[in-house]
Amino acid sequence: MDATPKKNMIRGIIARLLKTPNTKPQVYSASEHPVRAEQIDAAALSVVRRLQDAGFQAFVVGGAVRDLLLARRPKDFDVATNATPEEIRPLFRRAFIIGRRFRLVHVHIGHEVIEVSTFRGAQTDENATDDFGRLLSDNVYGSQADDAVRRDFTINALYFDPTTESVWDYVGGIKDVRMRRLKLIGTPATRYREDPVRMLRAIRLAIKLDLTIAPSSEKPIKKLASLMENIPTARLFEETQKLLLSGNAQKTIDEVRRYRLMPALDAIIANEHAERFIRLALTHTDNRLMSGRSVSPVYLFAALLWPAVVENRDKRIQGGEKSQAAFLNAIEEILESHGKMLSVPRRFQGSIREIWMLQPRFTQRVAQRPYKLLEQPRFRIAYDFMRMRAENDELPEEVGLWWEKFQTASHDEQRSLIAEAGDPPAKKPRQRRRRSGNKTAKPAETSE
Ligand code: ATP
Ligand code: MG
Repeated sequence: MDATPKKNMIRGIIARLLKTPNTKPQVYSASEHPVRAEQIDAAALSVVRRLQDAGFQAFVVGGAVRDLLLARRPKDFDVATNATPEEIRPLFRRAFIIGRRFRLVHVHIGHEVIEVSTFRGAQTDENATDDFGRLLSDNVYGSQADDAVRRDFTINALYFDPTTESVWDYVGGIKDVRMRRLKLIGTPATRYREDPVRMLRAIRLAIKLDLTIAPSSEKPIKKLASLMENIPTARLFEETQKLLLSGNAQKTIDEVRRYRLMPALDAIIANEHAERFIRLALTHTDNRLMSGRSVSPVYLFAALLWPAVVENRDKRIQGGEKSQAAFLNAIEEILESHGKMLSVPRRFQGSIREIWMLQPRFTQRVAQRPYKLLEQPRFRIAYDFMRMRAENDELPEEVGLWWEKFQTASHDEQRSLIAEAGDPPAKKPRQRRRRSGNKTAKPAETSE
């Protein structure tokens, strides 16, 4: 009998064991897709050309190719190559090898940094996974086909060669771009188990790019959502930040909550008042980003955690703590508990605290105090924050308008504004103004 079928079967088994795709790419020429070399950032282009001139394969890859295919402006341009970091580095004047687990090269050109990564190997059984199937180590270098299949979504695994203006596709990504479909490469449940952050990425990218998640990729999410608990804090923070600064934070957060991917959000959005405030914050952020302005992540995290601070402070006051002590203790407790849940890095805590601590001072419009507040380096961000609180009925609208005027008023006008303000005198306000049975949510505002 012919031995070929047996040989093929054995080859198939080996390929499956090694999980190496034995596929060739589908190469789409310039006439078959809309991406042009001139759309590639000049620095990335020069990196690709230098590598190719040295005899290596080099492509623009990932988010940039995807965004251009979907007629969006890419955020950054990454390069993938078959050259190793040691081979890449000497080709450029300022290039640095970074990363321990998987090393890549940062090539600095002018003010830009282009990330150049060597084709990464496919996963093999040697890759350690934890009890939940999460990948603990990434394998070393591999072929371009290996590199393609270890990426997350098919549309994220497309390689653009600016020299020939062709797109190389190992996973059917072009078809999915055309169908506006977000589809995981490989078996969805396995890929989510390997790296549960992919679930968050699916939601974020689908909303950002206005794509439909393929049913097979969507279905396992709810069942596997609890795997998000095992994500290292720094990693989760990175994705949370991307999600909040996507320009679609409002919609994305709603979806993330619907899929129960971030239980921390439920703890933070504990009641209607909190939900309203956080909605406001997210809408502000989205609007700012959409109109090309920047948003400080510190501001956002300060906003997300604020309702919890207010609630905690009021509970303490009801329990008999003095309002200022209650406020300070609430700040520390919430930064510790909820801050951790949201993976807010420690380095942010100082700035968040500053924004919060300035809040009571907006209702202390007496003597020299408004001038001193105006001089604070964090005044502007604290002021924006205060306006948002006013919008959420946490303090009278009049206060917001007063500060709007005060900032640009002449010295005389400022003096009469202070005279008109009618805030309580600054000294020992708590002793004199403590009210009993006050159930409103703002004692720290009016009494300090
Ligand atoms: P964005 O435009 O928001 O940056 P992106 O897809 O470019 O989206 P990056 O985090 O910059 O996201 O990742 C770059 C590329 O690396 C992706 O396009 C994808 O090919 C690959 N990648 C990123 N995260 C993962 C992951 N969790 N698993 C597998 N591949 C990933
Ligand atoms: Mg990117």
